[in-house]
Amino acid sequence: MATSSIEWTESTWNPVAGCTVISPGCTNCYAMRMAARLEAMGTAKYAGTTRRSGDRAVWTGRINLDEAALQAPRSWKKPQRIFVNSMSDLFHEAVPVEFVRRVWEAMADAHWHTYQILTKRPERMASLLAQPEFAVLPNVWLGTSVEDGQYVERIDHLRITPAAVRFVSFEPLIGPVDNANLSGIDWAIVGGESGPKARPMESAWIDTIHDACKAHGTAFFFKQWGGRNKKAAGRTYSGRTWDEYPAAAAP
Ligand code: SF4
Repeated sequence: MATSSIEWTESTWNPVAGCTVISPGCTNCYAMRMAARLEAMGTAKYAGTTRRSGDRAVWTGRINLDEAALQAPRSWKKPQRIFVNSMSDLFHEAVPVEFVRRVWEAMADAHWHTYQILTKRPERMASLLAQPEFAVLPNVWLGTSVEDGQYVERIDHLRITPAAVRFVSFEPLIGPVDNANLSGIDWAIVGGESGPKARPMESAWIDTIHDACKAHGTAFFFKQWGGRNKKAAGRTYSGRTWDEYPAAAAP
């Protein structure tokens, strides 16, 4: 387990390492940079997952499965919210169905935790989880990322996926999302991109998503403005912080 500084979770758990860029939201992927650093330090789990391209690291598309990590949540006694695969995408096409099934088994076994799974491949998530071997687990939240209005159809795939809690992460929000249908979506996270190459987020884009949340009864979490100095930019929107969670998160 790694304690996380991500505002909407408490810990991260990474049974899979490696990914492939799939859409513009991935361009400055934090996991890609971090994986390159870990690979350079000789961490076997990340071997072969990245390569240099000019002055930056990019994914190679190689996926490494971490068998040992599968057992980890059972040994964490304190219940917590766990972001699953912060360094990858569980529904990447190269992650075998059998391995996803074992992740499900681990989450069912260590049922005292809440697991948050976020994917940019909700089509695959929807088709895998429609299979009877994947039970709907009450402690598993399923989410998809939408970085601008071009990718709202990801929400449609999420909506038809059997899940106890569904959430959308509008982060990094790099363009307007004027057409988000949040019907059936329990929770929305909004955040601007951070880091040296951060692309700016406009407040009008947040307003539109916030209005959609109000219209659909979706809990709203404003994570950050982002930018080069995300601490300085802060996480106040419309005069306050927004740390709402889905009803399922209530103690
Ligand atoms: S899907 Fe996620 S982990 Fe994979 S490249 Fe994109 S942002 Fe990074």
